[in-house]
Amino acid sequence: MRAPRLSWKTEIHDTDILLTLDGIIDENFHYDELIAKLPTENRQPLRVNLKGIKRINSMGIRQWYYFVKNLEWPTPVLLEECSSVFTDFLSNTKEMSQGCQVKSIYMAVWCPECEDDFDVRIDLDENLDLDQGYLCPNGSDYYKPEKWRLEVLMK
Ligand SMILES: [Zn+2]
Repeated sequence: MRAPRLSWKTEIHDTDILLTLDGIIDENFHYDELIAKLPTENRQPLRVNLKGIKRINSMGIRQWYYFVKNLEWPTPVLLEECSSVFTDFLSNTKEMSQGCQVKSIYMAVWCPECEDDFDVRIDLDENLDLDQGYLCPNGSDYYKPEKWRLEVLMK
């Protein structure tokens, strides 16, 4: 059998459930199988860690949309450490975060001096300064993520 393109792991804690997704979200994301594996009792807030999402295509967006739509989780669903690839789609396709709260993201920020993107981790809490700049890993200067994306994700 071919290895799944998306793997998932659940950890049940006293106060929350951590679901870690890793890999590629595409038409092979069988969200119904994932939902069936989640606990049906003591459904504490669900933290979904998306740091390991490397790619997502248009069919994957559709599958993800149905995943969150069909989840029907009774307590908050928190999206954490969304990879920059996932964050990109999330800010362009607001339906993807329907019913979820986006807690933290990685966002690709362009440094013209290094001529490269670098990922900055941003916690989307009420203390976030949307105009804040981030130091490039080579220490050349502070660069700002696209503010409109942050605003969309915080709504
Ligand atoms: Zn730089």
